[in-house]
Amino acid sequence: MQASPNSLSSHHVAVIGAGAAGLVAARELHREGHKVVVFEKDDQVGGLWMYDPRVEPDPLGLDLIRPVVHSSLYESLRTNLPRETMGFMDYPFVTREGEGRDPRRFPGHREVLMYLQDYAREFGIEEMVRFGCEVVNVEMIGTGKWKVKSKRKRLDDNDRGDDFADHEDFDAVVVCVGHYTQPRIAEIPGINLWPGKQIHSHNYRIPEPFRDQIVKGVSEVPRIIMNIVTGLLYLVLVDATLSELCVNFLFLSVNIIILIGASASAADISVEIAGLAKEVHIARRSAVDDDTYEKKPGYDNIWLHSTIERACEDGTVIFRDGSVILADVILHCTGYKYGFPFLETDGIVTVDDNRVGPLYKHVFPPILAPWLSFVGIPYWTFPFPTFEVQSKWIAGVLSGRIALPSQEDMMEDVKIYYSELEASGVPKHHTHNLADSTNDYNKWLASQCQCSCFEEWRIEMSREILKNWRARPNMYRDEWDDDHLILQAHEDFNRRIS
Ligand code: FAD
Repeated sequence: MQASPNSLSSHHVAVIGAGAAGLVAARELHREGHKVVVFEKDDQVGGLWMYDPRVEPDPLGLDLIRPVVHSSLYESLRTNLPRETMGFMDYPFVTREGEGRDPRRFPGHREVLMYLQDYAREFGIEEMVRFGCEVVNVEMIGTGKWKVKSKRKRLDDNDRGDDFADHEDFDAVVVCVGHYTQPRIAEIPGINLWPGKQIHSHNYRIPEPFRDQIVKGVSEVPRIIMNIVTGLLYLVLVDATLSELCVNFLFLSVNIIILIGASASAADISVEIAGLAKEVHIARRSAVDDDTYEKKPGYDNIWLHSTIERACEDGTVIFRDGSVILADVILHCTGYKYGFPFLETDGIVTVDDNRVGPLYKHVFPPILAPWLSFVGIPYWTFPFPTFEVQSKWIAGVLSGRIALPSQEDMMEDVKIYYSELEASGVPKHHTHNLADSTNDYNKWLASQCQCSCFEEWRIEMSREILKNWRARPNMYRDEWDDDHLILQAHEDFNRRIS
């Protein structure tokens, strides 16, 4: 059901966050004729893609009042999608000439930041952004509007200053704050008495703290001195603070590491650490056979295990496959939690076991639609194009160009989705995992917006990449067999640009 284009209306819309999701939301809302203000607590656009060498003082991120570092990128990170499928559909992520540009098909994180900066500049988005402005409270007020309270530092000449609070009313709020900052930790029986160190990948930047310092012929004392010098050099070079000093010293002199997780980051980090540590043991829930463990093909010191059964007081960790490893560190590459501490909806929107709900198609809470929406909740999809089509949908619904079903029908749809997940044995915390439904989801959104996106080459390329990742887990970013699809992608980009 589509609304009449003659009755389009423009609204005053707050977008929270200027990462990839907030940028494309701002662009699409503005394009549709809405008046947009973007709140961004940082001082530049890009969100997660602004690499931050700092780590948090609590390596597991459990302390709720710790100083938070937003980005979870590690220094060596290259994209896990090729640039053709990763970029926005309306602004292809093609190689660009210039200082510091990275022409690789799977570029490093700095290239993605530059791409997002180019995008913001191209469409005049920075002019809509209030930088250094953190949203601290969002609530519905009696008039049907939303009050957005924010704070920003009013800086004096020495870059010091007090928080300056502000508030403004909006017709609608679009939440684009990301969900890769608050660590999720694996639950391990016995872990409280286990004497080793633990860290979440959110606080992993470089492998040096994991270096195996047991060098033949070097006695214990010089080894300790070497550790201290390495640690201090690291701290000086990355301009770290005293609190980070503690985190990094924790991991000096480490020999045996257990890494939990099977994501792209887990794979990258395990290989990187294995170059410096003595042994890396990977615990994976996806391991097919619980009774065996094996060396990772191509590596002498990486072992693949099933999940961990328990951790013991004597420093050992017992796996379900029966192996017992005396380990120094457990590195949790176990994902992140959703959280919207600023959002007050009288319990209408909740986060329960990492399910943000109820959300119609992962975007609109039925009772508050279309005045509250979320961009970027799903994962295991093509993030940027999905954000783009979600944003087009929100913008069109707010203007009245696209109609939503009734609240009851949206709620019914959410309930059906939840029951289908349950019937297929999908745990609640995987509610927003689109691994098996990403193409249907994106096509459905595109059909709502009446836009011709999610080209066949993009879908086929994602299949090829997955196949290549399985066949060449260590080389998939540099060797591939789908040049014919790259050609198709570029023909498509050229048609769009001309
Ligand atoms: P973010 O980039 O996190 O942006 C959120 C923004 O909101 C930030 O700028 C933050 O400062 C701001 N903010 C938060 N709270 C507030 C507040 N209260 N007030 C004001 N501002 C606020 N995707 C890919 O496509 N390819 C990849 O290769 C890839 N690799 C990844 C690797 C890692 C390690 C991780 C963690 C994710 C990766 N992703 C990748 C997925 C990633 O989700 C997306 O690429 C995308 O960048 C997320 O954008 P976002 O805007 O949703 O969130």
